[in-house]
Amino acid sequence: MTVHLDEMLAFNKRFVEQKDYVPYETNSVPNKKMIVFTCMESRLIELLLRSLNLKNGDVKMIKNAGAIIRKPFDSVMKSILVAVYELQAEEVAVIGHYDCGMSHMDTELLPEKMIEKGIPKETIDALKHAGIDFDDEFHGFDTVEESVQQSVNVIRNHPLLPEYVKVHGLVIDPGTGGVDVVTREV
Ligand code: ZN
Repeated sequence: MTVHLDEMLAFNKRFVEQKDYVPYETNSVPNKKMIVFTCMESRLIELLLRSLNLKNGDVKMIKNAGAIIRKPFDSVMKSILVAVYELQAEEVAVIGHYDCGMSHMDTELLPEKMIEKGIPKETIDALKHAGIDFDDEFHGFDTVEESVQQSVNVIRNHPLLPEYVKVHGLVIDPGTGGVDVVTREV
C-alpha cells in the first residue's frame, strides 16, 4: 500500500544528498508579489506553472477542490490575507479550470459513497443533526466562469483586503495550459 511513499522517500534521500535542490533555492517572499489560488487538479501540478512561466519562489500557491471560496473567513481567505500582510503579496489570480471535478459533484450520492467506504451511517446522521449540510459543504458549480467570478467577488469584497490588492479571475485548459481571462483589475 505504501509503495509510492517508499519510492518518494528513497528519491528524496538522493535528492538532498546530491544537492539537487540548488536550482530551486529562493526565499519566501514571492518574486512576482502574487498569490495564485487554483484547483488541486493533478493535471495542473506542472502544467499551470510551465504555461504561465512561473518558477519556484515566484508566487504564493493556494489550492483546494475547485478553486472555490464562498465564505469570507474560510482557510483560503485567511491564507490570502497572511500572504498580503506578511509576505508582500499585492495581486491575486484565481485560476479555475475546464473539466473540473467540482463541476459535476453529486452531493446527494456523497453520503452513500462514505458509507460504502466504511463510515457508519450513524456518524453521517449525527453530523446532519448537528447542522452540517452536506450539499452546502461539498457542492461545486455549474459553470467554472461563474464560480471563478464568485471566488473573485468574495476576495475583492473582503473587509480586510487592502484597496491596492488587485484580484483577477482566469480559467485554464488542463489539456493545453491555455488561459482565458474572466475578470481582471488594472
Ligand atoms: Zn478542479
